[in-house]
Amino acid sequence: MQMLCYCMLVEDVMEGKVSHGYIFYIRDGNRQVGIAYNTGLKHKILSELEKILDIIQNERMPKPTDVKTRCIDCTYKNICVR
Ligand code: SF4
Repeated sequence: MQMLCYCMLVEDVMEGKVSHGYIFYIRDGNRQVGIAYNTGLKHKILSELEKILDIIQNERMPKPTDVKTRCIDCTYKNICVR
């Protein structure tokens, strides 16, 4: 999602079309991974951002993730109620 947000921001700032974002893994064999971006994904991101804004404005704790591998490096794992 972070990469898609960057694509959306670049599109807005540069006033052009973005079709891909790229992640470069410099510690993992210098790999480059392309992430496709399109209008459908932009709408999905905007929908997710609205949900995040709702959580912030209403001061609600989001539900814990069902994907436990996301918790491994999570900044909040020491205070999370999962
Ligand atoms: S530890 Fe982090 S990723 Fe895992 S459920 Fe809690 S907040 Fe979400």
